[in-house]
Amino acid sequence: MAKKNIDWANLSFTYQPTDARFVSMYQNGAWDEGKITEDPNIVMNECAGVLQYAQTVFEGLKAYDTEDGRTVLFRPDLNAARLADSARRLAMPAYDEKRFVENVIETVKANADYVPPYGTGASLYVRPYEFGISPVIGVAPAEDYMFRILTTPVGPYFKGGVKPIYIKVSDYDRAAPHGTGHIKAGLNYAMSLYPIVQAHEEGFAENMYLDAATRTKIEETGGANFLFVTKDDKLVTPKSDSILPSITRRSLMEVAEKYMGLEVEHREVYFDEIKEFKEVGLCGTAAVISPIGKINDHGTDIEIPSGMGEIGPVLKELRQTLVDIQECRIEGPEGWVVEVK
Ligand SMILES: *Cc1c(COP(=O)(O)O)cnc(C)c1O
Repeated sequence: MAKKNIDWANLSFTYQPTDARFVSMYQNGAWDEGKITEDPNIVMNECAGVLQYAQTVFEGLKAYDTEDGRTVLFRPDLNAARLADSARRLAMPAYDEKRFVENVIETVKANADYVPPYGTGASLYVRPYEFGISPVIGVAPAEDYMFRILTTPVGPYFKGGVKPIYIKVSDYDRAAPHGTGHIKAGLNYAMSLYPIVQAHEEGFAENMYLDAATRTKIEETGGANFLFVTKDDKLVTPKSDSILPSITRRSLMEVAEKYMGLEVEHREVYFDEIKEFKEVGLCGTAAVISPIGKINDHGTDIEIPSGMGEIGPVLKELRQTLVDIQECRIEGPEGWVVEVK
């Protein structure tokens, strides 16, 4: 066993097939045992539920090496629970949560040579997903489902240091009240593609989506939750039933409270409050925290006090503390870091 000869530090976030993936089928009302396979391709009927009515949900987590030579995952039990929640909302059978974690471990082990060496900043991205595979023409849930786990090595999110980004307030909505914003479904991403392509063409890194009903409250971006730091050092994160419950955000809230002694508020955040914050950031598995330096609101720039130069001190410490817990330099709460081997 030897690590693949890959330029780890310069990998981007693109798909690159590895040796092994996991696949399990749901047929006749039950999941089979599943197995590791080498075949990256899927053959399905032209009328598969996923192709016709977008019945598909997914997860994303990272496997990485620690300094003492172990390979670990961060809170995979929460990905398991969230995938099951997502599946139920789209009338799909939930995949067993315990088996999810076991199968992720098995898949990472089978791709051990693709887990980047410690210190490169790279990781093995793990993508579990489930979709309706049997034919459906009248609108209804599929009968049969496929659960798969693919992995792909990805480089460090920030090459050459954490850099603040410039984002815009979007005129599109990401999620409706009582809709599907709180689940990790491909359909939420399909509708965000047109607005994000536009935002990128205009020179913005991300879209800030407001609540669809009143357009007064901050929700999230296409793929990350917001974090705010008040002038008196409180960590504030938006609460809404149409926000995806980010595992990074939930972990950061706990770290802020327990490791940094900060007061944490999870509540509705009005767009008008932006002026009250000294630091703003985005959080998700890929970047942990991306600082935001500037927000464009229909042509008017709102400069965040921490600026476009570097990440502000509170988010910097918060980010570093979580990264240190993830990489086992400091001990995290019980069960957060799960060993693959
Ligand atoms: C995946 C995702 C996030 C981030 O969640 P993590 O569990 O922290 O990676 C945030 N918002 C949306 C819409 C997402 O799909």
